[in-house]
Amino acid sequence: MALKDWFSGKPEAKGDFPLSRSDAEWRRQLSAEQFAVLRGHGTERPFTSPLNKEHRSGMFRCAGCGLELFRSETKFDSGTGWPSFYAPIEANIGRSEDHSFLMRRTEVHCARCGGHLGHVFEDGPAPTGLRYCINGVSLSFEPGERTAESPGKPAGMSSDATR
Ligand SMILES: [Zn+2]
Repeated sequence: MALKDWFSGKPEAKGDFPLSRSDAEWRRQLSAEQFAVLRGHGTERPFTSPLNKEHRSGMFRCAGCGLELFRSETKFDSGTGWPSFYAPIEANIGRSEDHSFLMRRTEVHCARCGGHLGHVFEDGPAPTGLRYCINGVSLSFEPGERTAESPGKPAGMSSDATR
């Protein structure tokens, strides 16, 4: 799937997320570093996140609102110095085009609170070929084998067709 396909028919949801808080509220809840990244689209310095070396199985959640974003089994060592994943929990992230720094990049954010997570690039490993390059401060890790809630999952086809 080409990156551009993700944008079709999906207007940017900037400022219009299910969970919205004022900057003052976010500042109270988040560390200065978390605020700079999640709410200010900042980027943490590479090789600074303890999550780079997090190899246990578990769930990576949004540090802003706790929504489940990435499963440990999709994490890989990209060597970039940022926690990297080849796939997100699709229903829980959003994407937007980012033209800052004279580059055309695809920004990824939490679908519930709009918190900035990082960017996605098309040079990742199989099976997706994608590399979600995520700021560790945007994530909180919860070790454990529990499977994800999937609030955005569409209802399956009904199998009890009457005959
Ligand atoms: Zn969030």
